[in-house]
Amino acid sequence: MSRVVVIGAGVGGLAVAARLAATGHAVTVCEASDVVGGKLGLVEQEVDGLGAFRFDTGPSLVTMPHVFRDLFAATGGWPDGLELTRLDPIARYRFADGATVDAVGDEAGFEARLDAALGEGSGADWHDFTARAERVWQASRGPFLESALDGPADLVRLALTRPRDLAAIAPGRSLRSLGRAHLRDPRLRMLLDRYATYTGSDPRHAPAALAAVPYVERAYGGWYVPGGLVRLGEAVRDRAVERGAVLRTGTRVARITTEAGAASGVLLASGERLRADVVVANADASHVYRELVPAPAAARRLARATPSLSGFVLLLAVEGRTPGLAHHNVLFPADYDAEFDAVFGNPARPVPNPTLYVSAPDDPAVRPDGCEAWFVLVNAPRHGSGPGAVDWRATGLASSYAEHLLDLLAQRGLPVRDRVRWSRTLTPADLEQRTGAVGGAIYGTSSHGAAAAFLRPANRSPVPGLFLVGGSSHPGGGLPLVALSAQIVAGLIGPA
Ligand SMILES: Cc1cc2nc3c(=O)[nH]c(=O)nc-3n(C[C@H](O)[C@H](O)[C@H](O)COP(=O)(O)OP(=O)(O)OC[C@H]3O[C@@H](n4cnc5c(N)ncnc54)[C@H](O)[C@@H]3O)c2cc1C
Repeated sequence: MSRVVVIGAGVGGLAVAARLAATGHAVTVCEASDVVGGKLGLVEQEVDGLGAFRFDTGPSLVTMPHVFRDLFAATGGWPDGLELTRLDPIARYRFADGATVDAVGDEAGFEARLDAALGEGSGADWHDFTARAERVWQASRGPFLESALDGPADLVRLALTRPRDLAAIAPGRSLRSLGRAHLRDPRLRMLLDRYATYTGSDPRHAPAALAAVPYVERAYGGWYVPGGLVRLGEAVRDRAVERGAVLRTGTRVARITTEAGAASGVLLASGERLRADVVVANADASHVYRELVPAPAAARRLARATPSLSGFVLLLAVEGRTPGLAHHNVLFPADYDAEFDAVFGNPARPVPNPTLYVSAPDDPAVRPDGCEAWFVLVNAPRHGSGPGAVDWRATGLASSYAEHLLDLLAQRGLPVRDRVRWSRTLTPADLEQRTGAVGGAIYGTSSHGAAAAFLRPANRSPVPGLFLVGGSSHPGGGLPLVALSAQIVAGLIGPA
């Protein structure tokens, strides 16, 4: 049996703790915050005269549910009481000219809706694109997403051993360029471009391989967890504890200790030392390599990458029901590029006219009767003072930007202001403070550039005995990918 310390109880940390505990390791999870789940957060609010609201503050959509089925199957079976419900439509898209299309699950139905909303031929274009995207998914799934990558040398290995797969993935091509080749309608390209943001990136610089994201979303569906997505994190936490992992909240790790160059445990902020044979860091990779353990080459490589975008969130307790509101709603602006120019520009700035994403689950467990719990998310530059960042703590910025978003909602057909009975903003600075994500960058580094996947921090760190799990390391962010990173790391460590 090895002693394993996991730093951080985000979904990746909890999932690796469950897997390692289930295979006989003695696992201790140290979480700085008083709650677990990391970015998969929850805000509960009682509103006078209306009742209790529950808001997911991070993820609102589960994709690739099989990854969680695998996790639970490997650690003792599907948890009692945990439900996943398939959403249909996955999202309602509204474009600046008022055209609206529901992304229904049935492929032929979706294509027919694209023809009706965007013009004849759009459905066929999407069909062609999907065939290409499926090839990308088949080529990338095993060697990229489900395997450890150790760096650019893997790119060379793949080029030599699987040239056809590498050709399908087209590492030199951007998502924007792939969209241009397959989709004639600019609104359909906009819809595709949005998937770059699922990895915190700009579609003009993100790799064409991200075509796999819409493919996977449609092929495996988009899912909701009744009661809120936070319940998924709670189920993974419970599984880790049931299998014997010790969970210590309010326990910040100050340093990873080493002996003869290998990880030997952690030093807690309280001064306590925990010895370990293996350390798994679920904390943001920049924090790990800059503050927890000296790894100059890894830190330099991270410093060269573009940090991912962050998000500005508005939680709204809304009285009354809104006609035409789906569970997930995406309201595009006229000029999508202006959004990425603002987020990734130098200087960066809050996006004047951003895409508005509204999630309003029709779930009695999260809103009182006759009310709606809205989670409004827009892309935002990360928090900080340097180039490419915005000081989200500047006096009045968060409140004035929230007011601006309420105006934009009204302009795009959702005039909600008069029905808001309670609201809260969550800025990139809040995300940084709550989860330790440097600058509130949701995905650590963005996926900009041909070799982005190979330059992401690897699961096997340069320090023997130290592994990285979670959204800022390979294979990337988003709930299924962090659960996959836990699977990869558990595989690298092996059973006790
Ligand atoms: C607004 C928003 C919307 C999103 N929407 C979606 C979505 O719809 N679907 C989806 O799949 N994904 C979504 N994501 C992404 C998803 O939430 C993340 O990729 C995923 O939850 C990250 O998990 P993780 O394992 O990397 O851990 P994190 O959530 O990053 O947690 C890391 C944990 O480590 C702890 N920690 C850090 N440093 C230390 C230390 N020194 N000592 C002890 N503990 C430490 C932190 O407190 C934190 O709890 C969204 C994220 C955000 C913020």
